Amino acid sequence: MGGSGDRRNWAGNVVFSAAGSAAPGSLDELRAVLRGARRVRVLGSGHSFNRIADTDGVLVSLTGLPPAVEVDTAARTVRVSGGVRYAELARRVHEHGLALHNMASLPHISVAGSVATGTHGSGNGNASLSAAVRAVELVTADGSEVTLRRGDPRFDGAVVSLGALGVVTALTLDLEPAYEVRQTVFTGLALADLDFDAVTSAAYSVSMFTDWREPRFRQVWLKQRAGEREPFFPWAPAATEPCHPVPGMPAENCTPQLGSVGPWHERLPHFRAEFTPSSGAELQSEFLLPRGEAGRALSELAAVRERIAPVLQICEVRTVAADGQWLSPAYGRDTVALHFTWVPDTEAVLPAVALLEERLDPLGARPHWGKVFTRDAAELGERYPRLGDFAALAKEMDPGGLFRNAFVERVLSGA
Ligand SMILES: Cc1cc2nc3c(=O)[nH]c(=O)nc-3n(C[C@H](O)[C@H](O)[C@H](O)COP(=O)(O)OP(=O)(O)OC[C@H]3O[C@@H](n4cnc5c(N)ncnc54)[C@H](O)[C@@H]3O)c2cc1C
Repeated sequence: MGGSGDRRNWAGNVVFSAAGSAAPGSLDELRAVLRGARRVRVLGSGHSFNRIADTDGVLVSLTGLPPAVEVDTAARTVRVSGGVRYAELARRVHEHGLALHNMASLPHISVAGSVATGTHGSGNGNASLSAAVRAVELVTADGSEVTLRRGDPRFDGAVVSLGALGVVTALTLDLEPAYEVRQTVFTGLALADLDFDAVTSAAYSVSMFTDWREPRFRQVWLKQRAGEREPFFPWAPAATEPCHPVPGMPAENCTPQLGSVGPWHERLPHFRAEFTPSSGAELQSEFLLPRGEAGRALSELAAVRERIAPVLQICEVRTVAADGQWLSPAYGRDTVALHFTWVPDTEAVLPAVALLEERLDPLGARPHWGKVFTRDAAELGERYPRLGDFAALAKEMDPGGLFRNAFVERVLSGA
């Protein structure tokens, strides 16, 4: 076991308070770490912006375990081990002529860490990345290996788990035949001219970007599956050169645009695996609401845009299909996701986050588990009808609270 050093998350805004760290090379070594620790959290690729992964005990990395990516072409599934990132997973799956249903804006993130926080991409018909999971393999607090499969009554609580049930050593995901995607960016769409349902159904995956300096979207990114009809987007002109969603950032960091067709995993994320995603110096928040509230939510944002714009780099509006996973921010409802890439200044950003919560909470906003939010546990409890079931599952699987941290305690106290 190593010392803690000065370990930080990707954004650098969280200094982990862990007393020690460990990178076990086998499941036996992992069990030894669990036996010897009072508190444990697993760190994925560290792309969350809050203290969800933090612990005052041992911070465990799974990068020392063999990085398995086992594709079953007949069953159209892949078993991926706990430390693997989407970039590697997608490349290997594509080599077998298969694909995931969707990806987040970046492929740099670990699969286990992403599904644990309900990470999503966009698309009216596309559920969160956790919806592709069909089995979760965990090592629990007492060192047992437990596999929960779709259909098990506990399964829907075990994928978006906030890391609170045990160490996820592998996940099995659904795949489908590989497909190609054409990516086109359109520029300049006034909020007043927005037909939300028409725009978000214009392609397989749609993202709208605004800096709220004006009530307009600077860019709308359409990702169409090849074979779908030609892009029909009468509301704004197509860009004539590649774009980056964050003003001032180089377009070469982004996946190919201008209508060029290519493999699913080289178009569904906005950012290329070999480059810095987003702006690289930022904080993020995201609020997920019932899709039917999209119009009112955008009006709420427009009403306070002059107060949020000074600390905002870019806001992205996406859609996510409903799922049945208890702690998924898209649980039980088709969703509009309002994402904010802030300047990297916590003190300046928190009042803007609180302002958004004040405006969006009455519409049923659920915060992204991996991003910055200020709401307290009781208020979160109201938004997650299955939080009590999740609290009971966490108690059953981790009775001594080995995998608890302050973040999880705060969430569970709202149950
Ligand atoms: C530039 C950028 C762009 C982003 N874009 C998107 C986006 O498009 N859509 C979106 O929804 N989110 C997005 N996010 C947020 C990101 O997807 C989440 O924060 C996600 O959780 C990151 O995965 P990670 O591996 O870094 O997780 P970490 O931050 O390392 O961990 C997250 C949680 O998972 C737990 N965990 C990780 N691995 C395991 C394991 N093996 N076993 C048990 N628990 C585990 C941790 O303990 C922690 O609780 C973005 C973040 C960044 C920095």
